[in-house]
Amino acid sequence: MGKLLSRWREFKFILALPEVHPFWLFIPFLAVIAALGAFFLDSITAFFITGLGVLVGMLIFFYSSRTARANYEMKAELLQMQNIIMSLSDAIIVYDKDFRVLFWNPAAESIFRLEAKTVMGHKVTPQDGQNDAWRLLVQVIFPSLAPVMVSQTESGTYPQITDLAFEEPLLHLRVITAPVAGETTRTLRFIKIIRDRTREVLIMKSKNDFITVASHQLRGPVTNIGWALETLKSDKNLDESSRSVVESATSANQEMLSIIEDLLKVSKIEEGRFGYNFEPVDILRFVEKIVGEFLPQARQLGVKVYLDRPSEPLPQVFADGEKLRMVLENLMDNAMRYNVQGGEITVKIKQSEEKPFMEISVKDTGIGISPLDLEKIFSKFYRADNAMKYKTEGSGLGLYIAKNIIRSHGGQMWAESELDRGSVFYLTLPTDKKLVPAKEVPLEY
Ligand code: ADP
Repeated sequence: MGKLLSRWREFKFILALPEVHPFWLFIPFLAVIAALGAFFLDSITAFFITGLGVLVGMLIFFYSSRTARANYEMKAELLQMQNIIMSLSDAIIVYDKDFRVLFWNPAAESIFRLEAKTVMGHKVTPQDGQNDAWRLLVQVIFPSLAPVMVSQTESGTYPQITDLAFEEPLLHLRVITAPVAGETTRTLRFIKIIRDRTREVLIMKSKNDFITVASHQLRGPVTNIGWALETLKSDKNLDESSRSVVESATSANQEMLSIIEDLLKVSKIEEGRFGYNFEPVDILRFVEKIVGEFLPQARQLGVKVYLDRPSEPLPQVFADGEKLRMVLENLMDNAMRYNVQGGEITVKIKQSEEKPFMEISVKDTGIGISPLDLEKIFSKFYRADNAMKYKTEGSGLGLYIAKNIIRSHGGQMWAESELDRGSVFYLTLPTDKKLVPAKEVPLEY
């Protein structure tokens, strides 16, 4: 009964909508036709004409009420969407290709401290940035004007994700930009979704600060323990079993020290103060030297090491030798540790197909990485199950550090692998100085 009543109310509501007006206008017209027919025509013709009129009336009613319902539903959906956008905590701005602001939600008012009535319809130009009140908006619309800008996506691809940071007042914004297609290319518009990440970044920073302070504090005592163990080891009166205890304590201590060093590196990288010093590097000689240093260890482990040299001379790369050494040492170390007895390692250098880049790969015939783990091995602290079973020691920080070092060189790093067959780690480095990022930037948290 209740359902029937609500249907009836809905029907009445639709009948009152403007789209149904043609039907109401048609009814008196039909009545006049019926009356004229009854007076001036014979009954069969009058009946036929009136019937036809009723049919047309029914058609008008059917189409107009259907249009009315569809329009009403569309308006309701639009209103709902508008309410959602208006109550979002992310700022939403829409502007046209001339940077004229077409949409501005309340969150945009609170982030930019500019009211909708001031901004709507205004054509934003870089010169507006000279006005303090407009500066933030200008730097968001033209991100290259912001003090710190980190692009999270490749240029020219949409949606564009950019992180912007401002001092005084401290503000961290993530800006997502996408084109909104209009009916023609002339009506092309852009939407920007802006999230205030200041609190999030500050929490991550204080967590990072804690790790940095704790690591700093730990480094001193752990180094002292190392010295004490070395002194003990040099004691000639030490019996065999005590010596073996001291040796295993020394290696555990070294492992702990290397984890502490890695944690310190991670916090410097994340804060953008690892400190890079780029210079031209003869990459072939550089790699030859590092590979050579691993040969005694490889011999001990029964692993063969090959260096696949390029057939043509290679251009120089622009790199920070000390940091690049960390990357290659980590890849070589992993290729040794996760290899099998009698396994092989092949290091290859070549001009990348994607010019102007150089590609270095380190291939091993070891335990490999499952497809699921392959997606995660460059994340902080991640260690795959098979690796943890095979080699208990390891921090899961090496590849995270390596990938970030390569990123700061303007290159890329990735891996391919087959479980129980082996892995290949690739990295690229630019041979054109222009592709090396000019400034070290804090990492996305
Ligand atoms: P760690 O080696 O200290 O665990 P890394 O960051 O260097 O840390 O490596 C992260 C994880 O990636 C390793 O724990 C392992 O699961 C996987 N991995 C790295 N290199 C190899 C490799 N050559 N073969 C198989 N697994 C690897």
